[in-house]
Amino acid sequence: MSTMTRRRFGLLTGTGAAMLAMPTVLRAQERPRVVVVGGGAGGATAAKYIARDSRGAIEVTLIDAGERFTTCFFSNLYLGGYRDLNSITHSYDDLVAKYGITKVTGMATAVDRTAKTVTMADGATIPYDRLVLSPGIELIWDSVPGYSQEAAEIAPHAWKAGPQTELLKKKLDALSDGENIVMVAPPNPYRCPPGPYERVSMMAHVLKARGDKGSKIFVIDPKEQFSKQALFQEGWDRHYPGMVEWYGPDVHGGIKMVDAAAGTVETDLDTFEGALLNIIPAQRAGAIAQAAGVADEKGFCPIDPASMRSAMDEAVFVIGDACVGGDMPKSAFSANSQAKVAAMNARADLTDAKAFPARYSNTCWSLIETDDGVKVGAQYAPQDGKIASVEGFVSQLGENADLRKATYEESVGWYDGIIADMFG
Ligand SMILES: Cc1cc2nc3c(=O)[nH]c(=O)nc-3n(C[C@H](O)[C@H](O)[C@H](O)COP(=O)(O)OP(=O)(O)OC[C@H]3O[C@@H](n4cnc5c(N)ncnc54)[C@H](O)[C@@H]3O)c2cc1C
Repeated sequence: MSTMTRRRFGLLTGTGAAMLAMPTVLRAQERPRVVVVGGGAGGATAAKYIARDSRGAIEVTLIDAGERFTTCFFSNLYLGGYRDLNSITHSYDDLVAKYGITKVTGMATAVDRTAKTVTMADGATIPYDRLVLSPGIELIWDSVPGYSQEAAEIAPHAWKAGPQTELLKKKLDALSDGENIVMVAPPNPYRCPPGPYERVSMMAHVLKARGDKGSKIFVIDPKEQFSKQALFQEGWDRHYPGMVEWYGPDVHGGIKMVDAAAGTVETDLDTFEGALLNIIPAQRAGAIAQAAGVADEKGFCPIDPASMRSAMDEAVFVIGDACVGGDMPKSAFSANSQAKVAAMNARADLTDAKAFPARYSNTCWSLIETDDGVKVGAQYAPQDGKIASVEGFVSQLGENADLRKATYEESVGWYDGIIADMFG
């Protein structure tokens, strides 16, 4: 047995370890098992790459709460009227039909890392040799005083795509000229750093397109600064003069209370009133990551940057928004990139596949107004115990219209590409 194979053998337990000693004919029946929890940007990609590249040698089960997956990415474009909801909602059918993945629909509620099982809400248990967790985020409701899950039915967060996104759009479309929007932006670290500001742009686009002159968008931000700030603020001044007012903590002095029913956000500076409140609370790794005991005291999951393995358990990989991604932002692009590293290492653990050095990449595009796209991105590698940025780029102020249009078109190509990569 080679050193590499012996190491992998040592990582296997239970039926997995027994299986390696069994004749080939039995091996075909009792394949090593990977369970993936979360069928979004990270999880769908990981499940597909493990199943596809192991050519049936690994049994892959993908657990997701939904029958179909609506992407948060491009949900701002749905808000702006550039997309319909159907175009950002996708099926798992090809993953099942083409790659033999077993799709389980339901909530995973617990992980027993000793027995190596995932427990479902209906009590069923699913065994694994390797577990990939990509559950995305959980919202910390009480991080905004006065906000709650119930209040979100009046003042949507829309930070998980689906009914919340539809509610936000319905409320946006129902606004009358002169009625205001108040957004409470989230503190770091959170899903999609430029997301709130692209959303502001898309809401402003809707107001402007229907000729509303009296409405304003107030952004109450707990952060001193935000992603692509100069680009967004330049864009807001150019396309929506006087419509967007952004307040950092040094100006508003702190968020004291949100009253969803009254439509108010009280700060030290003033009480902001809006017919539409969009409250985006603080975030942590999805509940199943907390339940599995692989999150740290800050609520996210530390990983080995060379493999995406949990720092707490080498049989568990944590990818996407739930992990401590170092310099990588929490984005679908990042989750998809991390998924491929986790998939490669899971296959190397369980079969004769080789694991190569990890490389990651990300680009976040944002649309400010029709054909005015901007982007920020980087390449990453494991360095000094974290995923570190090695080379980056960002759109520049004052770029010409052709370049901005090309940047937007690039983002449309990226969306189609990542969807095919996840689900195709
Ligand atoms: C408004 C907005 C705009 C965005 N725009 C972009 C963009 O332009 N580009 C970009 O790259 N990123 C963007 N993002 C970020 C992107 O959506 C996330 O970073 C990405 O989806 C994270 O992938 P993930 O796999 O970690 O989680 P997700 O994609 O959220 O997938 C997690 C899945 O796991 C399921 N799940 C969770 N827990 C359980 C459980 N216990 N049992 C069963 N199922 C479970 C959830 O239902 C969900 O389907 C945006 C986000 C928002 C909110």
